[in-house]
Amino acid sequence: MVARVIPVDPFDLVIFGGTGDLAKRKILPGLYRRFLAGQMPPEARIIAAARSEMDDAGYRALAGASLAEFVSKSKQDEKAIGEFLERLHYVTIDATGEGGWKALKGLMRKGVVRAFYFSVAPSLFGDLAERLHSHGIADGESRIVVEKPFGRDLASARALNAVLAEHFNEEQIYRIDHYLGKETVQNLMAVRFANVLFEPLWNAQYVDHVQITVAETVGVGGRGAYYDKSGAMRDMIQNHLMQLLCLIAMEPPYHFEPNAVRDEKLKVIRALEPVPAEDIVRGQYRAKPANGGAAEPSYAEDVDNPQSRTESYIALKARVANWRWQGTPFYLRTGKKLRARTSEIAIVFKEAPHSIFGEEESWRANILAIRLQPNEGMNLSVMIKEPGPGGMRLTDVPLDMSFADALGEDGMDIPDAYERLIMDVIRGNQTLFMRGDEVEAAWAWTDPIIEGWESRGDRPKGYDPGSSGPEDALMLLHRDGRRWREIRG
Ligand code: NAD
Repeated sequence: MVARVIPVDPFDLVIFGGTGDLAKRKILPGLYRRFLAGQMPPEARIIAAARSEMDDAGYRALAGASLAEFVSKSKQDEKAIGEFLERLHYVTIDATGEGGWKALKGLMRKGVVRAFYFSVAPSLFGDLAERLHSHGIADGESRIVVEKPFGRDLASARALNAVLAEHFNEEQIYRIDHYLGKETVQNLMAVRFANVLFEPLWNAQYVDHVQITVAETVGVGGRGAYYDKSGAMRDMIQNHLMQLLCLIAMEPPYHFEPNAVRDEKLKVIRALEPVPAEDIVRGQYRAKPANGGAAEPSYAEDVDNPQSRTESYIALKARVANWRWQGTPFYLRTGKKLRARTSEIAIVFKEAPHSIFGEEESWRANILAIRLQPNEGMNLSVMIKEPGPGGMRLTDVPLDMSFADALGEDGMDIPDAYERLIMDVIRGNQTLFMRGDEVEAAWAWTDPIIEGWESRGDRPKGYDPGSSGPEDALMLLHRDGRRWREIRG
């Protein structure tokens, strides 16, 4: 199946922080892939702005090196890369100073979409917003894209929203959560709201519980200083896992329209109950001994803070207090240095009320598993008769749908989350971006949880790299008579 590509309107996209890690690894490769797919009109232009002194040629060389490193070889087309690089420009700008803005203004064209990607530290958002206005570069039609982290608690998120609101209205602000740009995540909405099959079962009467897992194999890497002030709750649960939970739990919006979808997500966040201490397990990875291979440092060594109480793993039981979900817990877990790199949502249905096949037949519940990575797809486990002459014995088989196999042109053509989201910004579609009130509501739920363990002085439990996390996390489900799904790559 060949993906339909509809070109977007001509645009000037300014990337503040255009020399940074995110621009090199995600934004530029994503834009190039959209160019290659034919989605970028000939008039589209990308203007990078950052502190380093550089000219257009220097930036094109930097961008070319990034594409060589971060675009898959099968998509590296020399002619297309050359044409793409010609659309790139560079301006030296310090967000906190006045130099360079005139040059930027001179580059901006009238009559095209203007978008500004703030790929810089959030502490610079206010400076950028203010100068874009004082230099007459942004107007009421311009769009700004802001990156995570959007605050570290409710107060700081409110302050950021207030700073942006001084110069831009909510319809102009695109708060990125790249999880929402994933093909599977959008497919989740299609599966729920375009099929009659699942929606009647999508409630506490038929769903026993939901598991959302985002497991990484890497440690904190070079982000130690940032991460140690943040931790898994702020870095992952408050935004990414919360957004996934919303898409599972929300009521059908009246229309697939930005505010209708976001209204429904907001209701879910507001319906989340406070989480008591016994429903939270935090962990921190230990060092890995050499054992013939290379030894690896512990979390505390990685972040250079022997006293650190920050969690590199968290599991918790969330409850959505409304009619649909009363009695169906949502178990969330995420962590670093786990057994495999995988992101998955599993809807675990209740068991059939009565087995006509006898007690000895092991009956397993139907599970709808939605894989975000690797190999995006869905898988529904159903019970069937074990093949062969052995009588009526049951087994469960997966009805497996890999999107790459089912939909990809060459089995590989699923757009990356960033490229899809940037095109949505140009199209002016905010459906997959977080609204300011959603972010604040998410912090309002998160803050007391963090304050709880801080005031109790809780220490995270140690866990071995390559494991599934701390032992206590197993108990979180065990005591409810349930079991985590295996973390598998
Ligand atoms: P980075 O440190 O690699 O790059 C920062 C960029 O900002 C550089 O281009 C730098 O020149 C520019 N910059 C710094 N101070 C400036 C100033 N005063 N004026 C103008 N430009 C200035 O950071 P990054 O990893 O690219 O992250 C950028 C943003 O994206 C951050 O908010 C980060 O939290 C967020 N983010 C990054 C990632 C990632 O994978 N790197 C993932 C999610 C979110």
